[in-house]
Amino acid sequence: SAVRKPWIGGNWKCNGTRASVEALITSLNAATLPAPEAADIVISPPYLFLETVQARIRPEVHVAAQDCNAKGMGAYTGSISAEMLHEFGINTVILGHSERRDIFHETSEEVALKCKKALSLGLDIVPCIGEHREERLSGRTNEICFAQLAALAAQITDWSHVVVAYEPVWAIGTGLVATPAQAQETHAALRGWFREHVSAEVANTIRIVYGGSVSGANSAELARCPDVDGFLVGGASLKPEFAAICQNMA
Ligand code: PEP
Repeated sequence: SAVRKPWIGGNWKCNGTRASVEALITSLNAATLPAPEAADIVISPPYLFLETVQARIRPEVHVAAQDCNAKGMGAYTGSISAEMLHEFGINTVILGHSERRDIFHETSEEVALKCKKALSLGLDIVPCIGEHREERLSGRTNEICFAQLAALAAQITDWSHVVVAYEPVWAIGTGLVATPAQAQETHAALRGWFREHVSAEVANTIRIVYGGSVSGANSAELARCPDVDGFLVGGASLKPEFAAICQNMA
């Protein structure tokens, strides 16, 4: 869209050795990427690699964490606080990825509290929403996504630091990418939800990015959907292909 700056994120998930992270940084630093005025590019390594990636990646590429807690500092063994991300200069965090929801049993309410906490620290957030296969097949896609947005809206008042990732769960890591028509239809419905339940201003300006088996090959067509403002990329973000996806979106 002409009014919304493209946003492309690379979610590395729980992948990486010192050697593979080094190789990925080297490859991205040498790649042709859109200029920072043309697109926001964000990569999200596992926590242990955040500091190395932040120090070594070209400055126009932003670094995001894949989660944080809703609580802050304290007796929360195994978790990382938004305060820590802020202290380390990590300015963005992905929250409520479907793997967090499905494998680690995070509810929409917990995800929303994490969003509120991260925003209170001044972080940019990337809450993820999306329906499962059975939900789409039974015609409940909008209902499911709207309920996830409503849970977020119960905790978020300022949407200017929010990028929403629409990631149909059936498309994540499956190679089963949404068609451009499917993506556009749902993105338009989500924008409509913002128009009805938040404001026309937020509906027009909020970036809604698509995730689910995005590749170098399918990204150009998806990028032409008027309500698709970018991508959250999993598998392909670990490959040089990520640069091509960024180029196709910008
Ligand atoms: C993701 O993890 O957010 C994702 C979309 O994964 P993939 O691109 O591998 O489907």
